[in-house]
Amino acid sequence: MNETSGETQKTVDVLVVGAGITGIYQLYRAREAGFSVLLLEAGDGVGGTWYWNRYPGARFDSESYTYGYLFSRELFDEWEWQEHFAEQPETERYLNHVVERFDLGRHIRLGARVTAAHLDERSGTWSVVTDDGGEVRARYLVAATGVLSVPYFPDVPGREDFRGEAYHTGLWPASPVDFAGKRVAVIGTGSSGVQIIPEIAGEVASLTVYQRTANWCTPLNNRPITPEEQAQLRAGFEAMREILNTSLAGFLHQPHDRATFDDSEEERQAFYEQMWRSPGFSKLTSHYTDLLVDPVANAGWCEFVAGKVRSIVRDPATAEKLIPKDHRFGEKRPPFVTGYYEAFNRPNVSLVDLHQTPILRFTPDGIETADGVQELDIVVWATGFDFGTGALLRMGIHGRDGLALADHWAGGPSTFLGIQTTRFPNLFFPGGPHAAAGNNPRYNGDQVDFVTDTLVYLRDHGYDTIEVGSDAEERWTRMVDEGAASAVFGEISYYFGTNIPGKPRRYLLNSGGRPKLFKEIARVAATDYRAFRLTRSRPASAASPPLRAGAAVEP
Ligand SMILES: Cc1cc2nc3c(=O)[nH]c(=O)nc-3n(C[C@H](O)[C@H](O)[C@H](O)COP(=O)(O)OP(=O)(O)OC[C@H]3O[C@@H](n4cnc5c(N)ncnc54)[C@H](O)[C@@H]3O)c2cc1C
Repeated sequence: MNETSGETQKTVDVLVVGAGITGIYQLYRAREAGFSVLLLEAGDGVGGTWYWNRYPGARFDSESYTYGYLFSRELFDEWEWQEHFAEQPETERYLNHVVERFDLGRHIRLGARVTAAHLDERSGTWSVVTDDGGEVRARYLVAATGVLSVPYFPDVPGREDFRGEAYHTGLWPASPVDFAGKRVAVIGTGSSGVQIIPEIAGEVASLTVYQRTANWCTPLNNRPITPEEQAQLRAGFEAMREILNTSLAGFLHQPHDRATFDDSEEERQAFYEQMWRSPGFSKLTSHYTDLLVDPVANAGWCEFVAGKVRSIVRDPATAEKLIPKDHRFGEKRPPFVTGYYEAFNRPNVSLVDLHQTPILRFTPDGIETADGVQELDIVVWATGFDFGTGALLRMGIHGRDGLALADHWAGGPSTFLGIQTTRFPNLFFPGGPHAAAGNNPRYNGDQVDFVTDTLVYLRDHGYDTIEVGSDAEERWTRMVDEGAASAVFGEISYYFGTNIPGKPRRYLLNSGGRPKLFKEIARVAATDYRAFRLTRSRPASAASPPLRAGAAVEP
């Protein structure tokens, strides 16, 4: 363990950036493994997503108890989630509780945004600068900066001219926003927009929803966790952990064993009803096995959902606008809702389809379309994030020969295991692009475990510098790209970065899921880390050769 601190510079073994669920776990694991650790966080509190996204209605789409940490039985037993899908305040409280319970706060510096990170090739260490004037030197830099942590604002003329209040759901203020009696616009109907709309519809004077893309929204089916269920969760902890740790996407839902046309029309409609009433993501994970591969099967479910929308929304024209016409179910991340379609039956709620009626500009008083100016007091931007690479590329990371990560990845990310990239030794980014897909903390946690085990391996074997070889990186990146290319459905989701103008169209998740991640991690361990180049940057004598150089071979 090596930790020194001067007036202007601190030196640690491991510097973690980001106090979300990934970074907090990385801090815990690295400290428990005996490394000196510091965590830098841009926000003024911990929680990451659950610190920044405090808009009304923000809540899980993953079951609360499957999202929380599983590394400590005591922690699991003592935290009683209130609902199957917890709301943001509860999750923020939970993550603060974890930090306190494991005494992690003294290793965390809040309000410190990393603006630059430079590799010193000679020593193999990272020199990191923050916007509060701090500087930290670290042997290992772990960027746990999140995939949905850079809010995106579309380029709409006059945005700065608007004189009312404006908020992005991903940068929500700590003090509550007063919506009562206000004229409000929500721009965007993705996962965040569809959560906030029903939440505020009842208190605003008017709510105008600006929709670019209708989404296939289905019910979240949330409810409180009963005392009996609390007891069952505790009694079944080990079994639940086993299911979560071996499942494809980190959920408890069991896969279905039938394809769409194995069932008669009547059986199919009954199954669709059952799906409609099922919790959250089970509509993807427990659906007919061909839902995401057979367009005809997919169309059957879409027709059912469209029928539901038409039966809930009383105005037929509004219902039609709310039914997606440009993508199939599961092609984009489907939002899960509570009272969303019902909100459009309120007399004070209206829908503007931006394909028919685009926004021309903001004026000081509101939003102008071909239909005139809608005067507004508050504008809510629910316009999403620069997914996957957004935060990493804004951190000013420079590796070998001063190479900027932004240049290295100009055509899209290339990684091994979604954890490392060539030419950036001793940099890890768990929870970044090319991880898996599904319930985030499960596979981000897998990556943190791997990073920590790797650091221990390096220490135990006398190495202090690690850089993935280009063979391994190419192989993993090819696996990601080929998996995405062979998918039946198109490339229109933010998973491909297509929501950001000019962003390279590359798949940002890992199409092989957790099983592929586990398999590769096991292979790395079994082959003695030969996918990586391991060296000792601070040899006993300056003339000592690296312990093992050039070992970047296909394991
Ligand atoms: C509204 C919303 C709901 C979601 N619901 C679910 C869900 O139900 N299930 C699910 O699996 N996933 C969900 N997600 C995805 C969610 O992002 C992940 O589950 C998880 O929170 C990611 O954790 P993380 O620690 O990797 O990243 P984050 O929680 O995003 O944390 C990253 C942190 O890094 C900090 N940071 C970034 N750059 C810098 C820098 N340069 N310097 C210092 N600090 C920096 C950020 O401020 C942030 O606090 C949701 C996302 C959103 C936005």
